[in-house]
Amino acid sequence: MDAFPATAADTWIPEGLTAFCRFVSHLSGAFLVLTVHWRVGEDIAILASNADLPIQKIRPENLVERLDTSAAIVDLSASVSHLSSALLMLYPAEERNLYFLAVEAEEERYSGLLLLKSGPLETFQDALILDYLRSVLRQMLGDYWLLRERRYFQAKFHDLFDSLPIGILLIEGNGTVGHVNSTAEALLGIPAGQSSVATIARAFQKLRDRCINAAELQRLYAPLQQDLQFAIQCDWSTDEQVLYVDTHPILGNARQGRVWILQDVTAQRIREQSLQKTAERDALTGAYNRHFLERYRNDFEQKTSTSENSTAVMMIDIDHFKAINDQLGHAVGDDVLRAVSQRLQGQLRQRDAGVFIRWGGEEFVLLVPVRTPEEGSLVAERLRASIAHRPIRVAAEQTISVTISLGATFYRTGEGVTEDTIPRADTALYRAKQGGRNRCEWSQ
Ligand code: GH3
Ligand code: MG
Ligand code: MG
Repeated sequence: MDAFPATAADTWIPEGLTAFCRFVSHLSGAFLVLTVHWRVGEDIAILASNADLPIQKIRPENLVERLDTSAAIVDLSASVSHLSSALLMLYPAEERNLYFLAVEAEEERYSGLLLLKSGPLETFQDALILDYLRSVLRQMLGDYWLLRERRYFQAKFHDLFDSLPIGILLIEGNGTVGHVNSTAEALLGIPAGQSSVATIARAFQKLRDRCINAAELQRLYAPLQQDLQFAIQCDWSTDEQVLYVDTHPILGNARQGRVWILQDVTAQRIREQSLQKTAERDALTGAYNRHFLERYRNDFEQKTSTSENSTAVMMIDIDHFKAINDQLGHAVGDDVLRAVSQRLQGQLRQRDAGVFIRWGGEEFVLLVPVRTPEEGSLVAERLRASIAHRPIRVAAEQTISVTISLGATFYRTGEGVTEDTIPRADTALYRAKQGGRNRCEWSQ
């Protein structure tokens, strides 16, 4: 971001003080007139003078000790030799007197005029002139301090704005770009200091075009041109990073302009995705869990309603699983659960389709798209056979013969998969168990 540009006040306030010193020099006959300021214990700063000087500060030494700020004019002539030698060499007169005209004397801070002159200061014996000079200088110094303060806070704001880890763009109400901080320049790939509207707009467009979700962003930002109050927060995702981009009118008022805030949330999104994955998976088998179905069901019900394929919904239950636990221990039971789950998922991977969920205990739910009812029956049969035809190897080279029973049905458009379809599959499963297990029953 560019620093704040200089304003007219940056020039005319210091120039005014210089002109004032020249005027006082002319009026009083002093060859040196300095507008000075200092704090006790510090050097005296020369804010302005009637001539170009080789120095900007004076060491106060015992000038300060002799100062009586209640007097209109303080005669410091006795300590003139304490004035910087660089100054004295400029004015090598025989007789040099030093005077101080105080305009501000607050606690331990002083401002006023230092005058170096040969002979007494006759002009200043006129109280009217003195009052006038003091009041003008007081006014000018007031402006000077205000300018300094404004500059100080602008510099602070500039540093803060530029060091923020989020990108910020301020667009003025008339559409010109106000400020772009360094982070925004880096995130958008704008060359430093180039904050023209055209450059910024190009950089924004280029980044948006590179986004994986460019089409969605185009739709989301469509109202921006017409609606001055438009506000939105969304992710801009490229292959390498995700930016969380917020835009809104400044202080809710579009006439004040618009702000764009860009935050790199790549690491955060990766963490969120991995947390979501963990939360949607069953820890023992790696299959999806019920939470997943809760999130997925709307998508599923919508997709299935518009698809030409039907979806077979199957409830799968390991037969006599309790006996495996009882006879071989819970750990072996866990191994069997893992092995059955893997084998069934292996069958689905071959078809490259299906959502496999551990419904609880030794029960699994499967949603699998099929073209015909016959294909549904074939899938169910292949799943049953994949378990029954080959014993399961558990620890210590032991093998166990395991079978599963399946209850199956088809999803019907408009019904709730959890409320309607799965219970129907469960009813079919009950019949499979009643019918002798190791088989599949269908509910129409
Ligand atoms: P059925 O053929 O009628 O299905 O009989 P079953 O023995 O398989 O059915 P039942 O519902 O009586 O027993 C299921 C058992 O599964 C009971 C429970 O202790 C066990 N179980 C549930 N979750 C786990 C698990 O995570 N690990 C192990 N090892 N056992 C589990
Ligand atoms: Mg069961
Ligand atoms: Mg069982």
